[in-house]
Amino acid sequence: MYIDYDVAVIGAGIIGASIAARLCSAGLAVALIDRGAAGASGASGYSGGLLRLYDADPALMALTALSLGQLAEGVFAETYGKALRRTGVIYRAAMDQAEAIDGAIRSFARPDYPMRLLSAQEVVDMGVGNSADSQRINLYEPHASIGNVRQASSALANVVRQQGLLLEHCEIQSIDCVSRHEVRLAVGQATLRCRAVVVATGAWTRQLLPDLPLHSRSIPLARVGTAVHCTVPLIDAVSQSYAIPLTSAIVQSGCGLRDEARYPEQLAASDRRHDEDARSRVQGLLGAAAQPAVLDVLPGFDSYSLNGRPLIGFCSEDSPVFLASGMCGLGFKFAPGVAQIALEQVQQHLAGAWPRSGSWSMFSPQRVGVTAPAFAAVQP
Ligand SMILES: Cc1cc2nc3c(=O)[nH]c(=O)nc-3n(C[C@H](O)[C@H](O)[C@H](O)COP(=O)(O)OP(=O)(O)OC[C@H]3O[C@@H](n4cnc5c(N)ncnc54)[C@H](O)[C@@H]3O)c2cc1C
Repeated sequence: MYIDYDVAVIGAGIIGASIAARLCSAGLAVALIDRGAAGASGASGYSGGLLRLYDADPALMALTALSLGQLAEGVFAETYGKALRRTGVIYRAAMDQAEAIDGAIRSFARPDYPMRLLSAQEVVDMGVGNSADSQRINLYEPHASIGNVRQASSALANVVRQQGLLLEHCEIQSIDCVSRHEVRLAVGQATLRCRAVVVATGAWTRQLLPDLPLHSRSIPLARVGTAVHCTVPLIDAVSQSYAIPLTSAIVQSGCGLRDEARYPEQLAASDRRHDEDARSRVQGLLGAAAQPAVLDVLPGFDSYSLNGRPLIGFCSEDSPVFLASGMCGLGFKFAPGVAQIALEQVQQHLAGAWPRSGSWSMFSPQRVGVTAPAFAAVQP
């Protein structure tokens, strides 16, 4: 039995749920499918959820700016936007980054998203950091937020539940491309027949498209008790450490010890070295008075590309497979922007035109030559 939809989205993490909700809100018939519960089974279930703009890579800043632009109205204002808590973020970088950060402020700061530099003393006056560190440049984004990623994913999936089809606990084993405009997916005893398919399966993407240049990387996530109150999320790019206040006495932090594998299930489990690493990072950020004590280390992970940029776009001009993966630990803040890019290109595809990645060609999977492997993975 065939069930027809315009588009199937495989994976209901924050990326797939955002794309599916955006396509639904534009009037397309969409099926969103996950082998677990929306937003709970993959990287989105662990995410720190920081939404801030600055990145050393201007392409990633442009993508985040596109995301921020989606939050003012429409489906993201009602879902994703309601899962955000505005906290501001301080980003400390080495002095040789001053020119890049000045350039970012000139290019991206706006009245509704200010960005400015703080002196070392101002950082201390805000109750963040252990001393006036004059060896850093301090970028402050007062409108940066912390998101509840599960809440956002669930609210977006709920839009699809109401306007399209949401299938949870349903695993897609393979993608059967019949033609440029027909894709079939086996779903239970039925076959879902669509005109395009979006693959948003995060760190498991190579199970469906094996030859993609993506890998899984662990992002151990520690929750650490502290005796000092960290008032604003703080990121130190030099030591690659961060502290996000969860309560007045607990911060979330990362560990430097990472592992890489093909799939998340193959990543090494965290051990005592991770506890000690997280403890010393929080102490480095907040000072010895913080007396940090690690509560737990969660086994977070994400899908990584080779150059730190996600893969967003059709696998080739004549492929019905749209890829949205390789978020490299930043997928929460990219999600509304990725969904907007997906909408524009999927609409072109459905209209029979060749989809154009245009100003987003730097994220096109075609840039890394995935055309042949993507087609090799599906059966004509
Ligand atoms: C500890 C941690 C901190 C982070 N902090 C931040 C941050 O501060 N800011 C930020 O922007 N980002 C952050 N990230 C990154 C962000 O969370 C991820 O980039 C994002 O969640 C990836 O979403 P996704 O939808 O691509 O993947 P996932 O959330 O992994 O979703 C993929 C989904 O696909 C489903 N799936 C897989 N295969 C199949 C199949 N065959 N059939 C059906 N379903 C399938 C899975 O069940 C899963 O639900 C962090 C991540 C971690 C782990």
